[in-house]
Amino acid sequence: MVKCPKCGSENVELVKSWELAPRGRKPVKVGLFKCQQCGAFFRKGIKE
Ligand SMILES: [Zn+2]
Repeated sequence: MVKCPKCGSENVELVKSWELAPRGRKPVKVGLFKCQQCGAFFRKGIKE
């Protein structure tokens, strides 16, 4: 479960996600999340 780094709430919404593929590395999926509690935006890697 994704938690807000500011307030620790799990009430977060996935705003968008994209793939980050550094050269020579495995692509990683990253999501932009918005906390419904305090309104903070933060990025986090998404494990599948
Ligand atoms: Zn928060």
